[in-house]
Amino acid sequence: MQDFDYIIVGAGSAGCVLADKLSASGRHKVLLLEAGPSDRRFWIRVPIGYGISFHDATVNWKYQSEPDPGINGRRMYFPRGRVVGGSSSINALIYHRGQANDYDDWATAGNPGWDYKSVAKIYDSFEQVRKVGDEGGIPPTCSRLSVTDATTSYHPMKDQFADMCKQIQLPVSRNPVMEGHSAGPYFITTRQGTRCSSAVAFLHPAANRPNLTLITNIMVQRIGFQDRRATNVDCLLNGRKVTFNAGREVLLAAGAINSPQLLQLSGVGPKDVIRDTGLEVVLDQPNVGSHLQDHLGVDYVYKANRPTLNDVLGRWSGRIRAGIEYLTRRTGPLSLSVNQFGGLVKSSPDRVFPDTQLYLNPLSYQTFYKGRRALTKPDKFSGFIMGFNSCRPVSEGHVRIRSSDPKMAPAIIPNYLSAQKDVDDVICMARLIGRMQQTPAIRETLSAPPLTPLEKMSDDEIVNDFRERCSTVFHPCCTARMGSDPKTSVVDKCLKVHGIDGLRVCDASVFPNITSANTNAPTLMVAHRAAEMILADG
Ligand SMILES: Cc1cc2nc3c(=O)[nH]c(=O)nc-3n(C[C@H](O)[C@H](O)[C@H](O)COP(=O)(O)OP(=O)(O)OC[C@H]3O[C@@H](n4cnc5c(N)ncnc54)[C@H](O)[C@@H]3O)c2cc1C
Repeated sequence: MQDFDYIIVGAGSAGCVLADKLSASGRHKVLLLEAGPSDRRFWIRVPIGYGISFHDATVNWKYQSEPDPGINGRRMYFPRGRVVGGSSSINALIYHRGQANDYDDWATAGNPGWDYKSVAKIYDSFEQVRKVGDEGGIPPTCSRLSVTDATTSYHPMKDQFADMCKQIQLPVSRNPVMEGHSAGPYFITTRQGTRCSSAVAFLHPAANRPNLTLITNIMVQRIGFQDRRATNVDCLLNGRKVTFNAGREVLLAAGAINSPQLLQLSGVGPKDVIRDTGLEVVLDQPNVGSHLQDHLGVDYVYKANRPTLNDVLGRWSGRIRAGIEYLTRRTGPLSLSVNQFGGLVKSSPDRVFPDTQLYLNPLSYQTFYKGRRALTKPDKFSGFIMGFNSCRPVSEGHVRIRSSDPKMAPAIIPNYLSAQKDVDDVICMARLIGRMQQTPAIRETLSAPPLTPLEKMSDDEIVNDFRERCSTVFHPCCTARMGSDPKTSVVDKCLKVHGIDGLRVCDASVFPNITSANTNAPTLMVAHRAAEMILADG
């Protein structure tokens, strides 16, 4: 038994921020527990290395969903980071806040103070946006997230993509991250050519504080309660059971799959699910693990009449050249994401808000190679991709434990495309891509007709193709959502679990609704706000 003020479960995007902020004053004893290993690994530091970590079981939970009727009965592969930095150590590096109305909807759902005007100040406090080559100078003790505008390093196809957008009156911006309503070159979380995960930005600078303890390779198995107050966590470390006491609070930051799993394993969740596994119910809370939302996307592949990244990453000669450039100068394709251009746009002018996130990549891949992410195996021809996902899908799934054994993966039931609105949106967005592929800017780059002849396809054919080929964009959230009513939510606006003392959830699980773009940025913001509120209470 050891005593701490705060115990943080999970050193991911959110957990690393909490560890930094809560230990900064030196007044509190903070324990950070991470199931995975250290992030001091080559393929985590090298930005393009996410193609390798995508299937690497040493740093990845590698979950699978249950077969889902919405995607023609397929199981969806759910990678999640299992390493210091969590999913921010293995993600595709895109940095995007989403849209102002995402957060205004959070506030409207019963969470005053989470509107965009309020949270924009938090974003401003931790982001450091710089152009590529200009990102040095952040002292190691300063916990800021390095967000790089890598436009000048991106593949020349970016100009075609920008022209294409203009030709169909889609707004183009150099600053899509902050503006929300436009396409442009993506900003990425790198610093001087290496990944700037949440661990690099927030945890590493704090690592030597005497009041902060990080334990890796430790699995938290259960939260312990006394009279509905969270008092301790039971863990497995090197095959031994260990318990740590929390004098003030237990802070769950295990991510949108594992946080609800841990709550259910601890007796907080739907009573039938808990009882079926033989565990004792502490609090019947049907919303724990419910309301799962995720982005679901598809790529359309094009053969190009000019070299693309396929000609670099798909050939040994190109890889060796790129490797030398990276090792000597920390520049080139290995220092970047392959998601280089995109943003949030309207699929048709009558939409009130942008409803479509675009991914326009100067690289193509279409074959599934078992155990390898397709981007490490691009198509043999010069090719590129134009893809989309819906910004705000409304289908909801759930996460449920199957057993009292914490080592057994929970059942993930996404219920993709279970809402008709999401199916209708797929058709509108695919039609937008159809218009994009007809623009002069795209047609002049093609060496063959588009592989998917969208303009000849019926709505049913488009939907069936989508169901057959779509993939998660890796943004599960909302499984312990925030709200004022315990009948419909798990945590209150201060992220405290309704009906339980001394326990907050502080990660992507608490989003009341999915945000329009990639979810790392909003998770980091949630964690910063959580830390402010925890310190204000303490
Ligand atoms: C392949 C991939 C690509 C992505 N691309 C992007 C992108 O380009 N841009 C973007 O914005 N977002 C992206 N995302 C999503 C984004 O990274 C996540 O939304 C965000 O990191 C979630 O943060 P979190 O703190 O909620 O969870 P995580 O960062 O996943 O952290 C949870 C941590 O808790 C640990 N943990 C879990 N259970 C236990 C336990 N029982 N005991 C101890 N530790 C535990 C985990 O190992 C993990 O380290 C991507 C995600 C993936 C997987």
